[in-house]
Amino acid sequence: MKPAAAVAATTRRYAAIGLLTIGYALLAVNGAQAATTFSISFSNDDSGQFASYYPSITSNVLAAAQTWLQYFSSANTTIAIEIEFVDDTTTRSGGESLTSYFVTNINGINIFEQAAATKLRTGFDQNGDSTPDLKIQLGTNYLVQALWFDPHPLVRVDLIPSDKTDAMSIFLHELCHGWAFNGWINQTTGTFPGDYMSTFDQWTRFDGTNFFFVGPGAEAIYGGPVPLTYGNVFHVGNTSPRPGSDLIPDLMNGIVFTNAWRYYISSLDLALCADAGVSMTNPPVLLSHPHWVNAIFAFDIACPFGRAMRIDFSTNLVNWTVLTDLVTTNATMAVSDPAAASSKNRFYRVVLP
Ligand SMILES: [Zn+2]
Repeated sequence: MKPAAAVAATTRRYAAIGLLTIGYALLAVNGAQAATTFSISFSNDDSGQFASYYPSITSNVLAAAQTWLQYFSSANTTIAIEIEFVDDTTTRSGGESLTSYFVTNINGINIFEQAAATKLRTGFDQNGDSTPDLKIQLGTNYLVQALWFDPHPLVRVDLIPSDKTDAMSIFLHELCHGWAFNGWINQTTGTFPGDYMSTFDQWTRFDGTNFFFVGPGAEAIYGGPVPLTYGNVFHVGNTSPRPGSDLIPDLMNGIVFTNAWRYYISSLDLALCADAGVSMTNPPVLLSHPHWVNAIFAFDIACPFGRAMRIDFSTNLVNWTVLTDLVTTNATMAVSDPAAASSKNRFYRVVLP
């Protein structure tokens, strides 16, 4: 029998190991914080044509929002999320904060952050309580034809049909646009429409050919300027010969969303958010993608470069044994455990010295 694929990220005081899945595990680690709540509303569905989707959309969006929230240092407030149906055959999904909020002026340039992030951090609601803070657009054709709604969106172990896209992954992605990945830079020329930028634009550079994000936290994790998607710059990664093909698997990549695949928030995504001013808790180590390769259990660790850590395993969450010591050499590293298959249950934790 295969062991329960449980992984848990912990810090020095390795508290709270979750149960059974990465979703529970990560939520458990920071489960104590966050008075922030989320509300969901639907628009552009006056006839109620898509009402049968409301419960699934709501559960998956709330799970995605909750998953983000565990990394944020947030206020006692409610973030109102509007789900807008777009009735055409080409729209897939979109996400944005409905307004932006003035932060500072640097050398004559006014800098604005996504107001959803402002409200998250301070509770201040720039556009008033009756207006949503963040909007997710869903193309109705995409909704009906492509999306699959996880019945257990915090657990994330149910089988995704091979021809469907994981809606939970889509919502994690679109919410990230609402927190930080947005702005006004021209996506092919690198110019600006006026004397204003977003907190994301502020760290974006165009070298005449390619776009890069040069925020200090993101560069530290990636090991240098982070390639942004040419023509779609509020995303990471490009197809070769442009730089950043290694980022195509990232949640915030601007190239492809693979069917039947779960995307997880990466440490790089969090670093870009932090550089763009989203108020974060301590930089976490992320464990994700529990999977089997030729009958060997493996998972991914995402964390800054050059960090020493120890991976422990346990069969009972009481007694822990060292699996391996490592120093990270990539933003995401795979860890495998050939002995896992012989064990009924297996839990993992990361210990940072
Ligand atoms: Zn996007």
